[in-house]
Amino acid sequence: MGFDKFLGNQPIVTVLRRMLGRGRVPHTLLFTGPRGIGRYTLAVMLAQAANCERFEDDFCGECAPCQAIGRLADPAPLIDQGLAERGENPDAATVERVPLILQTHPDVWALVPDPVRRKQPAARPVIRMGQLRAAQRAAYFKPVARRRVFILESAETMRRDYANIFLKILEEPPETATFVLLAPRPDDLLDTIRSRAVTFRFAPVGAGPIEEFLKRRGDLGAPERRLAAQLSGGSPGAALGIDLEESRRLRSEVVELIERAAEGGSWAELLAGSERLAKREDERFENILEMFYSVLTDLLEHGFALQGRTPRNPDLQGRLEKLGRRVGPAQVRQMMESLDRLAAGLRRNLNRQLNLDAAVCSWALGGAAPRSHPRRASGR
Ligand SMILES: [Zn+2]
Repeated sequence: MGFDKFLGNQPIVTVLRRMLGRGRVPHTLLFTGPRGIGRYTLAVMLAQAANCERFEDDFCGECAPCQAIGRLADPAPLIDQGLAERGENPDAATVERVPLILQTHPDVWALVPDPVRRKQPAARPVIRMGQLRAAQRAAYFKPVARRRVFILESAETMRRDYANIFLKILEEPPETATFVLLAPRPDDLLDTIRSRAVTFRFAPVGAGPIEEFLKRRGDLGAPERRLAAQLSGGSPGAALGIDLEESRRLRSEVVELIERAAEGGSWAELLAGSERLAKREDERFENILEMFYSVLTDLLEHGFALQGRTPRNPDLQGRLEKLGRRVGPAQVRQMMESLDRLAAGLRRNLNRQLNLDAAVCSWALGGAAPRSHPRRASGR
């Protein structure tokens, strides 16, 4: 019971345990890696270990602080409860005055991007000023147990001007407080914040351990477990939440768009496909981008005839091999570069559909010439 329940990234666990063992936990930690890889889970475990009554080399998971903090591991009901307590339609002032803080023990705080309300959440939940101010005040109080731990989920959603509040705390950190920032990539945060943090980059977990994990957690059959593990990109949380049928449908649309671009299909068809993907409301656009990357990576590896590779989209291999005969590695690289530009544009809040349209059209231009001129596309 303790850190051994954590899946993957054992080198990170080892370093954290060593820090805890020596009583030298840094004031600011940055956990980076894809969604669902376990950054939040490990942050909660760290908070347990920092406050466990029987900590030696590991936390016990059974003492009162361990139990209380452990309840933070499933944030969904806590978020729901916090939003319900604030009222269904709060105004902007109320959202700041009653900040969304998840807490199951007086010393451990989780800050998550505030969706504002339960029904119709904000378009893009962000960490708010009120949440940061509340954490700032709390950080200077003496802990009830040993250490105050503040977990900032999706720290990259913090507005840059608010980040300065945060920077103030990091510049003169209270002796008994630790901030654990979670973000997909280190460069999602301001340099000034990043440079004060000890960064741990979470690596993808192997398909084997993820299959084992799914076996313990769910009712999927062996072939489905294998597919879910392969599609998860090394992220146990993603594997657990995946809807295989829906995922196949979506990835199939992604492949179709690449096929059309490679064939030089009509602009109208290309743009219609791009619009369908960009406007989906049930799937985060970042996930759709990931699907493009995963399909293109399969194409690239296929193009170089890599031996012993594990395809990311095993259920679409036949189609991808066919497509790979038409699209060479150089063209796949160009496509990936345009996706990189698209991803960078999204971080600057550029319109996702226009950008996906532009990317897809550039692929068509890079391949065979499209059948119709864009200005005449509407007449066809
Ligand atoms: Zn304990």
